[in-house]
Amino acid sequence: MKTIGLIGGMSWESTVPYYQIINEEVKNRLGGLHSAKIILYSVEFDEIEKCQSSGNWDKSAEILGSAAKGLEAAGADFVLICTNTMHKVAPQIASMIHIPIIHIADATADELEKCHIRKIALLGTKYTMTQDFYKQKLIDRGFDVMIPEDEDIEMINRIIFHELCVGEIKDYSRKEFLRVIDKLSEKGAEGVILGCTEIGLLIHQVDSSLPIFDTTQIHAKSAVEIALTE
Ligand code: GLU
Repeated sequence: MKTIGLIGGMSWESTVPYYQIINEEVKNRLGGLHSAKIILYSVEFDEIEKCQSSGNWDKSAEILGSAAKGLEAAGADFVLICTNTMHKVAPQIASMIHIPIIHIADATADELEKCHIRKIALLGTKYTMTQDFYKQKLIDRGFDVMIPEDEDIEMINRIIFHELCVGEIKDYSRKEFLRVIDKLSEKGAEGVILGCTEIGLLIHQVDSSLPIFDTTQIHAKSAVEIALTE
């Protein structure tokens, strides 16, 4: 079994499910007392968020790169960055280590392909929805990526940072997300990527009119696949 390195804490609310999903998946596959080999480097999210909102992505790359180096030195065989947004600096982090990074958008694209989805809605932080670093990966793989209207982008971003990242799960916000998902469905989306690792805390498949692709679930399970089979 390979050792999984996690760069977590962005936010810690979404790193907890990573730990649980990875171990449950190992248990499903191997049974008995089996559990995953995991090394977690959990960062101080306030520092990272300040880098994001001030546009100082280089500083965030340094912080996460040094976390990745720590995981490599501690014996991790590969690394997961447990947030979609911070994949903006994945290339810089990758250049600082010798072990692979399992990119969350690649893992998600693999899953979309398995489900024969082509036209996909993307929900996430405003960085993930409006910038190219994430969407372009999907476009390059042949997907047609749809994002919400401007005011819905602002609303979703606010709920992520002011509620989900601080552990507040509200019915009203769930309804708002579902309203946006319905709108994207009417415009032709065949599925929706929960492209922020906290959204799965709010929205589940039973709530949604569209098939959901929860990046936390997909990413965590892809780590187990690699740890056990490659
Ligand atoms: N966890 C979130 C994501 O998947 C947002 C927090 C962050 O900005 O890293 O994008």
